[in-house]
Amino acid sequence: MATHRPAVSPPAITYTDAGKINGPTFTCPRCERVYPYPHDHGAPVRCECGWWYTNLGHGRIIEEFRPRIGGAGTKGPEAAAGPRSS
Ligand SMILES: [Zn+2]
Repeated sequence: MATHRPAVSPPAITYTDAGKINGPTFTCPRCERVYPYPHDHGAPVRCECGWWYTNLGHGRIIEEFRPRIGGAGTKGPEAAAGPRSS
């Protein structure tokens, strides 16, 4: 009688863009996740904990709390179309 042999699965691959960071890093002071340092006047670091860190140049970092639900700006490119409350 044949023994049941399940097919051997290939090793799991995790697809992530959180690879090795080359160059300077920025550590979220609230949750200590590490990100590539935001460029001057560049895209903000959008931390998983909801805080955004934008580099205004000359080392000035502004902090904004933008939780993923209900916290997006209502103006600007990040504003998504959605139901309007009146
Ligand atoms: Zn954080």
